[in-house]
Amino acid sequence: MKLILLGAPGAGKGTQAELLQKALQAPVISTGNLLRAAIAEGSKLGLAAKEYMDGGRLVPDELIISLVQEKLAAPECAHGAIFDGFPRTVAQAEALDGIGGADAALSIEVSDAEIEERMCGRRTCPNCQTTYHITHNPPRREGVCDKCGAALGIRKDDEPGVVKERLRIYHEQTEPLIEYYRAQGKLREVPGQGTVTETTALIFKALSICS
Ligand code: AMP
Repeated sequence: MKLILLGAPGAGKGTQAELLQKALQAPVISTGNLLRAAIAEGSKLGLAAKEYMDGGRLVPDELIISLVQEKLAAPECAHGAIFDGFPRTVAQAEALDGIGGADAALSIEVSDAEIEERMCGRRTCPNCQTTYHITHNPPRREGVCDKCGAALGIRKDDEPGVVKERLRIYHEQTEPLIEYYRAQGKLREVPGQGTVTETTALIFKALSICS
């Protein structure tokens, strides 16, 4: 199954993608994580993406589309993938349709006020990219990644001014995808205001997966 996770930055796409990965037996393609890894490596893609990301703006479509095409061609994606943070524009959605499209698009809906509150408390592992929240989804040991033991940090684009810009861009460029996938009959919508566990249960129900 190819599943798209839609939702504002901080809606919980990354956390839910991790949980769905096991249930659907499909790898997660997170364009944000791939770009952060490219920046850490100092690759050409990373150099091109950094300025956009630090300012909370979208990386140009052509860079993202070729990155996703490359990932989708890998053998582990032969039976599907879970897209976290892709597509983010209609041009990206059309490009994905051109290479087979997706089976479903799941929109996790959270208000802007809640997003801003969540982003303030978000902590990210700079090593494996796992995200936590200081109160809603804390690591077992404060400040330490459960998965790899690295010290957690705050992403530059999670700073309050940048979060406002990311939300503005989300409404302008990514939200239209909700109608795009509704028109294709592929949209499922779930409220994402509750706890991680509550949202996971709603997602599993929307996708008819037994937990
Ligand atoms: P994320 O981790 O998904 O919140 O993404 C972090 C940043 O990476 C975004 O604010 C964008 O600058 C960039 N990015 C990630 N995915 C995309 C995408 N599909 N299209 C354009 N830019 C992206």
